[in-house]
Amino acid sequence: KTPIHVIGGGLAGSEAAWAAAEAGVPVILHEMRPLRGTDAHKTDSLAELVCSNSFRSDDAETNAVGLLHAEMRLAGSLVMRAGDAHQVPAGGALAVDREGFSRAVTQAIESHPLITVVREEITGLPPAEWDQVIIATGPLTSPALAEAIRAETGSEALAFFDAIAPIVHFDTINMDVAWFQSRYDKTGPGGTGKDYINCPMNKEQYESFVQALLEGEKTAFKEWEGTPYFDGCLPIEVMAERGPETLRHGPMKPMGLTNAHKPDEKPYAVVQLRQDNALGTLYNMVGFQTKLKYGEQVRIFRMIPGLENAEFARLGGLHRNTYINSPALLDGTLQLKSRPGLRFAGQITGCEGYVESAAMGLIAGRFAAAERLGRPVSPPPPTTAFGALLNHITGGHILADDEPGKRSFQPMNINFGLFPPVETPKAEGKRLRGKEKSLAKKRAITARALADCRRWLGLETR
Ligand code: FAD
Repeated sequence: KTPIHVIGGGLAGSEAAWAAAEAGVPVILHEMRPLRGTDAHKTDSLAELVCSNSFRSDDAETNAVGLLHAEMRLAGSLVMRAGDAHQVPAGGALAVDREGFSRAVTQAIESHPLITVVREEITGLPPAEWDQVIIATGPLTSPALAEAIRAETGSEALAFFDAIAPIVHFDTINMDVAWFQSRYDKTGPGGTGKDYINCPMNKEQYESFVQALLEGEKTAFKEWEGTPYFDGCLPIEVMAERGPETLRHGPMKPMGLTNAHKPDEKPYAVVQLRQDNALGTLYNMVGFQTKLKYGEQVRIFRMIPGLENAEFARLGGLHRNTYINSPALLDGTLQLKSRPGLRFAGQITGCEGYVESAAMGLIAGRFAAAERLGRPVSPPPPTTAFGALLNHITGGHILADDEPGKRSFQPMNINFGLFPPVETPKAEGKRLRGKEKSLAKKRAITARALADCRRWLGLETR
């Protein structure tokens, strides 16, 4: 059989190569290290972990990334097999001995009879004779290849930094304080005039909030990242530094909004949240990209009226990160619409994290192998963690059409907000509340996911 080419031997590329080879298809894996390095990688091992050694929670019952672990194990993941074999103690998390882990992945790949590893940098789009290709070159894709991708997809479609605003679970927003309304009740394309959630502040609340932003602890950029500030996308705390009124004239402006609960009280400032996924379970805080430390974000953003009990599906950030505008560019099987047979996988597609990147590699490898074998390419159901993440990347995300020139697609970890909702289960006929309700919902989502994942993989279900 003609081989599939995988470019990049990181978390996603290694997993993609393994999945395709295990399906019986030959693979050529192109990895540029050690001939050419990145600013973060330090070794020549495949699947190197560039920072923390944690795959996060391993709880498949009440944690979304734990569920993804479980689905990956069911699907024969090499990353999970190597991770389990090189686990180090970390409470409920799965943390690994980083060297042992990467060595195990490298050995498994190098000794697979259907995989050939070539150490070379791919500097342009693959030649036409490579009819099945997976690009998995990650957040630090080499500049030559990034430039070629940009030429193919258009300059707006490839980002070199993310500018992540926090995302809140809708059901944790206090709608007795916040209200739905678009500024000046505007009804753009597909709009209803009530597309945003608005959180009001009076003068005193605004001033303490700005003070908290100024005093909050921030993370620094790594030296090689540079300082990627550009106007229109400044971190919220940098805007606050420019003067006490800057935010009130920027993302927190109160104009065109009337507090539905207190129509006579004119808000001094307003924080707006915009729907972030088609399901309507997640809302992002408009203009709130930030370098504040995670703990500080939770503390400070809960000062916002209406968000006092907010649970965050994603916290804000700003990092060097090469990724494409997947919802616009890719089809539901991670294939570039303009060039079928060319797939993307891993962090370059706009997922975030070791586990998520590996999961999307696994899926891309299965898709490419199915095509090579002339079998139907069957995407995972959206109720599974695989499917929920794939859906975020390729379709479930709302593209901002009300802010010309702005891309709203930003990288994301797996989280429960990406899954289709479930009915809240009852206990002995009684309605559940609070933490119990939230846990019961999570359990219902994970049970449904694992059953659907088994069915999708053709495994026995009982
Ligand atoms: P990578 O694992 O980066 O793999 C891409 C591979 O492609 C690399 O081996 C690279 O050498 C190779 N490559 C690049 N260009 C070419 C080319 N032109 N030709 C051939 N090969 C090429 N995630 C976490 O979960 N936890 C963390 O703590 C964490 N910390 C991070 C810290 C930093 C500084 C960065 C940059 C990222 C961090 N991430 C973290 C995100 C993490 O990098 C990704 O989640 C994960 O590694 C992405 O997997 P990937 O396979 O898509 O990319």
